[in-house]
Amino acid sequence: MKIVDLIKKNKPFLSLEFFPPKNRDSWPDFFEVVEKLKVLNPLFASVTYGAGGGTQENSLEIVKRMKQDAGIEPLAHLTCVGASPENISNFVSALKDAGVDNILALRGDPPAGDEDFDFNTQIFKHGSDLVTYVKENHPGTGIAVAGYPEAHLESPSIKEDFKWMKNKIDEGGELIITQLFFDNRVYFDFCERLSEMGVNVPVVPGILPIMSLKSAKFILSLCGAAIPGKFLSALEKAHAEGGDDAVYRLGIDFATRQAQELLDGGAPGVHLYTLNRAKACLEIGKALKF
Ligand code: FAD
Repeated sequence: MKIVDLIKKNKPFLSLEFFPPKNRDSWPDFFEVVEKLKVLNPLFASVTYGAGGGTQENSLEIVKRMKQDAGIEPLAHLTCVGASPENISNFVSALKDAGVDNILALRGDPPAGDEDFDFNTQIFKHGSDLVTYVKENHPGTGIAVAGYPEAHLESPSIKEDFKWMKNKIDEGGELIITQLFFDNRVYFDFCERLSEMGVNVPVVPGILPIMSLKSAKFILSLCGAAIPGKFLSALEKAHAEGGDDAVYRLGIDFATRQAQELLDGGAPGVHLYTLNRAKACLEIGKALKF
């Protein structure tokens, strides 16, 4: 079933993002985390693709097991950078064979270290090309796309980014999952502006629970999301005074309040970036009464 149809019947909802562990020895621990998080009744779980050097095979197998063993509806991320139409079709067909109907259609980032990489040399140049291809060649596939409330790092302007965001929906994107952010005003402004442009698909906010100062700084350096100065100072102060435990407490309390405010303000659900850890998401999900 398409996730966009599940969303219509299940608001508000909680969903989760996982990444496939590279080392197969850690898969039993990974699935233990997934099992623990099932208590929150996630509407779906997304599984990243290729990010951080993960392989296509690992993504596919984790997605299949998410569906068949864990019984959670998967949303399989799929990037098109460097791919041929045949690669894409093979992956989407393998998903279909496993009963997986939904993808998050992404362009992906340039290969690490290749500063001169030019997307214009690629068969698939943008996320929207993947959306168009899958819609035409694999009808019936549920297609989600990525959204950037603070604009994509490469965008010359916010206006330009909105134009291409709308284009991904016009091409067939059925729901948007956002990049993480910490200031809810950027999410509500993003939704309002899209709605003014006639884009009315569900916009699911991605929330990163900050579990440690080090990992937060690393993730933020990769994705370009801004952390409000006041919150960063509070985290640094907590670290200086109470160490990692104090940072964790502050991070989880912040994410819980952030998610509640988003739901109260009309977000259809919240998508938690789990970082493959159970404890923080369990605390947040239970506080939100999922
Ligand atoms: P696009 O939609 O192609 O946008 C990229 C840039 O091009 C933007 O600046 C946009 O404005 C511009 N643009 C778009 N269309 C056009 C056009 N037709 N003409 C000119 N300019 C255009 N990466 C992974 O490798 N694996 C993952 O699993 C993964 N999961 C993600 C999940 C989420 C929720 C998010 C938000 C990101 C994820 N990423 C992942 C990162 C993502 O691959 C990068 O952010 C990538 O740089 C952009 O992908 P996109 O599909 O959003 O790109």
